[in-house]
Amino acid sequence: MNHALPMFNLAHRHTPREVVVPRSAEEVAEVVRGAAGTGEQVHPIGAGHGWTHAVVGGVALLTRGLAGVEIDPVAGRARIGAGATWAEVIAAAAPHGLAPLAGSAPAVGAVGYLLGGGLSPLGRTYGWATDHVRSFEIVTGGGEVLTTSASSHPDLFQALLGGKRAPGVVTSVDVDLLPLATVYGGGLFFDGADAEAVLGEWAAWSACIPATVNTSVALLRLPDRDTVPEPLRGRCTVHVRLAVVDEEDGAAAVLLEPIRKVARPVIDTVARLPVSAIGAIHADPEQPMPALEAGALLSSFDVDATRALLAVAGPQVQAPFAVVEVRRLGGLLAEAPRRPDSVAGRDAAYGLFVVSAPVPELFEGPVPAAVGDLARAMAPWASGRFQPNFVGSLNQPTALDAAWPDDVRDRLERVRHIYDPAGVIGH
Ligand SMILES: Cc1cc2nc3c(=O)[nH]c(=O)nc-3n(C[C@H](O)[C@H](O)[C@H](O)COP(=O)(O)OP(=O)(O)OC[C@H]3O[C@@H](n4cnc5c(N)ncnc54)[C@H](O)[C@@H]3O)c2cc1C
Repeated sequence: MNHALPMFNLAHRHTPREVVVPRSAEEVAEVVRGAAGTGEQVHPIGAGHGWTHAVVGGVALLTRGLAGVEIDPVAGRARIGAGATWAEVIAAAAPHGLAPLAGSAPAVGAVGYLLGGGLSPLGRTYGWATDHVRSFEIVTGGGEVLTTSASSHPDLFQALLGGKRAPGVVTSVDVDLLPLATVYGGGLFFDGADAEAVLGEWAAWSACIPATVNTSVALLRLPDRDTVPEPLRGRCTVHVRLAVVDEEDGAAAVLLEPIRKVARPVIDTVARLPVSAIGAIHADPEQPMPALEAGALLSSFDVDATRALLAVAGPQVQAPFAVVEVRRLGGLLAEAPRRPDSVAGRDAAYGLFVVSAPVPELFEGPVPAAVGDLARAMAPWASGRFQPNFVGSLNQPTALDAAWPDDVRDRLERVRHIYDPAGVIGH
């Protein structure tokens, strides 16, 4: 019935029986209890990138009515409604010299991102975004409104910290903010002809950087349109994303020198940025588009890995990808959590993520074939695990379960059964 859910990803045809926009936790509880009574599922839909598969039947619950961001500048905390985006949190926190640990695309909903762990472009310095969560308010699949924290329903809290498929609808979250006003960062864009040199240097350099340096590299294929800067238009280019925290400009520039020296950038946006401009580091697309995605975690990414990647996705190949990116993990992302959680990816060194060209005619054959080639090429470096926020429709159906070791997956399953015994919440 409904193809027009307000989602970023236009690739999927959504057919819920009903769409609801509740305005309070009590209204959410009514929806959940009503659906349970009729044997239907409730599908929570956040404000961001949108589902990676179709919503079929049941009740699509748009969280946008659960809006609002409250900042407590003295405690350095934010209460974030489930309908709020990171951009809204950033705007509310910035006047107090505070910032949340948002992702690469601030237009994404805070809650959907936090439920998967939350990988920020500042993650090596500050850890996973869930490391900064204090509590969630949730309507469980049983229709109960609960506040869950390290001391209240700790089993549920642990599951929500990165366990992705929540056994309820999160209605708000309390997070600690960072006392951070600026970072030194941006992007270096290189011509495709320099791809081998840039990726090779990036692989060697990124293996040894301190935790104050955050970086990823992407092969971009942007459309031949006026809205795209001329040097990037209609061709394959390389984008090195950088963010240095806690260093003076001069010291930060020295840390980035090996990458800047490897070739002449065609665009260089690296500068001292207000944290409110964090989205400029990746410059992810903000307009809705059709896309299929896939992700994988890597144990390492060396110069042989860069050659393998370029052989299937580099400028010499007609690859149906808009973005193929490798994010450096490690730093505080690799540290053991301060309290029990369910974050997947702490032990990986790099994350690989691919977004297809926004061309639906390629979705049936060419895109899955190219992703298969990429997966085979990168298999020697793959850890065999996945980061839940980066599992997409082009991953194997088993990939989300394979995000966690068996004991963690079993614990998440048990917690889902306790709080949503009838399986009312669909994801
Ligand atoms: C180009 C691109 C860049 C990305 N960059 C990053 C990044 O930097 N870091 C990162 O961590 N991820 C990133 N992602 C992944 C994506 O942003 C996250 O997976 C996030 O989940 C999307 O949030 P959303 O608001 O769109 O949630 P949705 O897509 O609406 O939902 C995602 C899942 O969360 C569930 N959910 C959403 N809201 C609730 C709620 N209130 N209660 C219970 N369940 C809920 C949904 O049911 C669904 O299962 C990126 C994705 C793309 C396509």
